[in-house]
Amino acid sequence: MAYVIFFSRDTDFQAARDYFPATTNYSEVLEVPKFCQGLALPSLLVSGTKEGLLSELAELGVKPCGLIRHQSGKKDIRLGSTPNEAWRAILGETNLRIMRQSVSDPQKLHGEILAEKNFGYLIPLMACLIKGGAYRPEIPSLALEEGHRLIAFSPQEIFISRASDVLDFWINLRRCVDLICEAQEKRSFLSPVTEPRQGISAIEIFRRLPSTNCGQCGKANCMEFAVAVCTGKGELEDCTPLRDEPWSEHKTSALWLLRTIGVG
Ligand code: SF4
Repeated sequence: MAYVIFFSRDTDFQAARDYFPATTNYSEVLEVPKFCQGLALPSLLVSGTKEGLLSELAELGVKPCGLIRHQSGKKDIRLGSTPNEAWRAILGETNLRIMRQSVSDPQKLHGEILAEKNFGYLIPLMACLIKGGAYRPEIPSLALEEGHRLIAFSPQEIFISRASDVLDFWINLRRCVDLICEAQEKRSFLSPVTEPRQGISAIEIFRRLPSTNCGQCGKANCMEFAVAVCTGKGELEDCTPLRDEPWSEHKTSALWLLRTIGVG
């Protein structure tokens, strides 16, 4: 079995890179594609067991920010151009903070990028460039459904949920950075959006519920409950199973989404 390990800090990446060649694990550096160069550190493709890899790294004091199963099959990643360095003046250094399986679809990936600089002043302008989605001017935050993905921005963060694979994550990150740069470039022509929008479907909440249709919330099924929560007619707390430990990540994700779309 092979895994891809992601890092937030260069010291962690270098320590892991130096360590694996002396072990029986095969390791290979996976560069960030050219079209996302500079936005995050390279990752490592390593063969071995998941548990073994994590404990080996922990003994070295190395903290990865993500570990996912490697999907077989190589794809051509020579897409697009290197990002214009304009992004660096807006975002400063960027770090991949988390890469993991998506809570709302375990077959897909969830990744978060943390920027050094606050780009919140551009979000009201990005809301002008994007039609629909959920927008909260007071934070400000912006979330949109992009195919099967959910993409969200807060003043220093970019969230990409349900990316098909690592390459899909990088492609969408590049699109996000291009949108931020476009808002900066056109800032003298754009009017900041001041009205909130709540254009995210209830299915996003449904995806974070246990899907047992047990009725403990007083609704006939999970979808009915999701609609009630999304329209402010129900409280997430009313889903009793969601309070249990196995569902804690789902609950955290649902609460984050509700905050982002301005409910509750
Ligand atoms: S209590 Fe939770 S799991 Fe049960 S039907 Fe309601 S939303 Fe679904």
